[in-house]
Amino acid sequence: MTSNLPELPVVVIGAGPVGLAAAAHLTERGLPFLVLEAGDGPAAAVREWGHVRLFSPWRFDIDPAAARLLSGAGWVRPDDGKLPTGAQLAADYLQPLADLPTIKPHIRYGARVAAVTRLGLDRVRSLGREQTPYLVRLADGEDILAGAIIDASGTWRTPNVLGASGIPAHGETAAAAFVDSALPDVLGRDRDRFAGSRTLVVGAGHSAANTLLALAELAAQAPGTTVGWAIRATSPARTYGGEAADALPARGALGARLREHVENGTITLYPGFSVQSVTVDGDTVAVSDGDRTVIADRIVSATGFRPDHTIAGELRLDLDPVLGSTRALAPLIDPNEHSCGTVPPHGADELTHPEPGYYAIGVKSYGRAPTFLLATGYEQARSVVAALAGDWDAARDVQLDLPETGVCNSNPIAGDDTIADGGGCCGTPAPAAARAPGRGLATGIAGGLLTAPLNLITLGDKPADGQAGSCC
Ligand SMILES: Cc1cc2nc3c(=O)[nH]c(=O)nc-3n(C[C@H](O)[C@H](O)[C@H](O)COP(=O)(O)OP(=O)(O)OC[C@H]3O[C@@H](n4cnc5c(N)ncnc54)[C@H](O)[C@@H]3O)c2cc1C
Repeated sequence: MTSNLPELPVVVIGAGPVGLAAAAHLTERGLPFLVLEAGDGPAAAVREWGHVRLFSPWRFDIDPAAARLLSGAGWVRPDDGKLPTGAQLAADYLQPLADLPTIKPHIRYGARVAAVTRLGLDRVRSLGREQTPYLVRLADGEDILAGAIIDASGTWRTPNVLGASGIPAHGETAAAAFVDSALPDVLGRDRDRFAGSRTLVVGAGHSAANTLLALAELAAQAPGTTVGWAIRATSPARTYGGEAADALPARGALGARLREHVENGTITLYPGFSVQSVTVDGDTVAVSDGDRTVIADRIVSATGFRPDHTIAGELRLDLDPVLGSTRALAPLIDPNEHSCGTVPPHGADELTHPEPGYYAIGVKSYGRAPTFLLATGYEQARSVVAALAGDWDAARDVQLDLPETGVCNSNPIAGDDTIADGGGCCGTPAPAAARAPGRGLATGIAGGLLTAPLNLITLGDKPADGQAGSCC
């Protein structure tokens, strides 16, 4: 193993789809490994968005090494052309994979990694670094030694903030009780919170699109349910994406349905809306961009995710200053240039840090770029494990067959001048929300930041002519 410590296990952080793919490749290579998973079972993050249907059919969702191991154990492969939900991905593929007799003994659940460093060496010490084992500290204080680290811990627990400047908007922290992070189960588990309520969804990625579609469906079932949608871009074209032209039809259909709801007024769009402040007023919450203020009962923050590199703070990482991926990977995944489907093949070479034997893979490897697809992560896992096995020919023979187009591309197009906010990904019809003019909340909202008079918009009011969302 290139870590020079072949007797110690490769520690994989996270038993999500990509961490488990790494486990499958490590099994096939015969390398010792230990998967540490914070949740109480495999795919803890995926299960939280289990009610959402993937836009990639099964054929893009299964790692080839995992499929080989599973098939050898009598597993019946799901229909390649069908679209699983997150719950089905976990139940029909990831749970059986984690339960394989060759993998199960090497996974520990309830094992949250708090920090990774080198035993007895902080980031500054160089002498003997490559021969020194990794020290993995768990949240409960236990220390584990490792020969190499594959960090597949994802980004699910570190969502972006509502504030358009990348730091919390004024009042955002105090308003936390009114804010759901991405992908609440609007039609299931969380229905009571949203039925009959006015909800403002903030963000322009797939998560926002999914939640908006679910809220639109709820609006048709539960009177009084009102849906607003705030995006930083001046047009929602990015979110509508490839529509009929999308190589992943399910992803295209999402955009087309969303457009329909916006055009028929079920969803009121607030384009060019950069959240500056959030103010609680009794049972309602006011969200302001400094010009307009939207009054709602709830906010869904679907502004994307960011990687948490603090657990590796004592390692030598070479991070791209913009995306937080490796520097070598950044130009290949840059959302200004690429959609998910145009990301070129990449592997161990592009994922290498100055700290030998530490690799971040999966959605975490992309940092803030919303262009990640499972198929990319599986190829990363294959390549990195080959590199750890010293098989550099295989590590460098990277290949990818990805569908093109889609909403994760943020090339500026007519009428859409900003990168999509948010990462990555759905009785009587509710009345169209309005943007009614008027004096806003008192000047001085959020500590005197805003001085201009505000336009007050109450979700659910009748629109004033020409003042609703501009895309219709
Ligand atoms: C709603 C939604 C729909 C998506 N649809 C698609 C799609 O159709 N097609 C597609 O290709 N991609 C899709 N993606 C993108 C991507 O494939 C998924 O986000 C995928 O789950 C990423 O896999 P991962 O293994 O990298 O991370 P995760 O699935 O997030 O797994 C990370 C794991 O690490 C664990 N963990 C986190 N921190 C620690 C720690 N400190 N210690 C120990 N364990 C830890 C977590 O509990 C989790 O189990 C979608 C994403 C979302 C959110």
